[in-house]
Amino acid sequence: MIVTDLPGCPSLREYRQIVGAERFSAVEELAERLSGIRLQEINSTRYGGGVAEILMSYVPFLNALGLETVWSVMEAEPAFFDVTKTLHNFLQGRDGFSPAMIETYWDAQRQNEGLIEDDCDVVTIHDPQPLGLVEFLSSRDLAGKRLIWRCHVQLETVPTETVGSIGNIMRRLVEKYHASIFSSFQYLPLWSVPSFIIPPFIDPLSEKNRDIPAAEIDATLEKYGIDPEKPIVSQVSRYDVFKDPVGVIQAFKRVRRKTPCQLVLVGGRACDDPECYIVLRDVRETAEDDPDIHVLDLPPDSHREINALQRASDVVVQKSIKEGFGLTVTEALWKGKPVVGGNVGGIPLQIRDGWNGYLVSTVQETADRILHLLRHPEKAAEMGRRGREFVREYYLLPRGVQDHLTVVDQLVN
Ligand code: UDP
Repeated sequence: MIVTDLPGCPSLREYRQIVGAERFSAVEELAERLSGIRLQEINSTRYGGGVAEILMSYVPFLNALGLETVWSVMEAEPAFFDVTKTLHNFLQGRDGFSPAMIETYWDAQRQNEGLIEDDCDVVTIHDPQPLGLVEFLSSRDLAGKRLIWRCHVQLETVPTETVGSIGNIMRRLVEKYHASIFSSFQYLPLWSVPSFIIPPFIDPLSEKNRDIPAAEIDATLEKYGIDPEKPIVSQVSRYDVFKDPVGVIQAFKRVRRKTPCQLVLVGGRACDDPECYIVLRDVRETAEDDPDIHVLDLPPDSHREINALQRASDVVVQKSIKEGFGLTVTEALWKGKPVVGGNVGGIPLQIRDGWNGYLVSTVQETADRILHLLRHPEKAAEMGRRGREFVREYYLLPRGVQDHLTVVDQLVN
């Protein structure tokens, strides 16, 4: 399925103002050099999760730069998403992937066989879900085409020793690509494919991140029954065990014993994540109808409301146990919030401990850091200011596009 309902891109002039003329001109020059090529992005969900979030801005931005780009989403039965969720968990270090699942994986690849467009010059395939599509390209299909595999997962487990294992299959598939991109050098597998490191980015002008009026923030708090007078601690995340929402509630309860505050857990269900219902049930059980704990299950297009809730927060938490990059951390830092984040995956690439937030590993550390920030609002504000400038420098859309186009340029020129 080709995504056709994307919003238009805000004016390039606005991006130039945010990131500065020098950086922006470099992006435009690169796009100019590549003019005439056609790009395709392929992933497995239109809504929910970081990859969809990135593509939603990235694709209109490239088109505005004059590079024709299409975004295609795989379609598959729920059984496939059960399998790829298990695979995702397995790659992040949890057991459960069985060889029998491989068949379901291939069925879905076969079903989406024609997804790679004939007339696209550079195709970027995101994450393991559509990785196998490469198998269905003949050498004629491949002629003149460049394929990139972009991995957003924290690759912990890629066992390759067993013939026929999923690790070996992935390796064989990835080695058919012309290049691979990872979010951090920590996850780079030793495979024979040119690899690049490109951290993800956020779009400062998206509905999720652009400035919004104070009245809209107030209205959002009112809508969800959140007290504007009481300090707000929040975590925005899919309901996923690796985001540890239950741990966040436990930490919050320890903080609240010492100072009045409320917790807002903002989440939703990604279309490709069948496990979220179980996690949401555990979250509700742990929250125990506590009036200070707001568990929100929002529709996938709640970008402005999430924006408002992040802006209303005094402290933002992202207590992940595993994390590819953690765009929610970037989003909160951009809004000038100090972030208490799990010391895993891409979070330490964004939080310098004690400078723009805190890195934590346990419930007690999380509670201690939240309490400290609530008790020292001036320090929290200073950290927030640093966080915003840090994101401006490293993690905004134009930088991400520049890095990606640099890889594309190397492949085609
Ligand atoms: N998100 C959302 N609604 C939700 C939960 C998350 O729009 O209910 C967004 C969130 O704002 C962020 C992205 O989904 O932009 C999550 O990206 P991240 O890298 O933090 O985690 P992932 O879900 O990819 O593991």
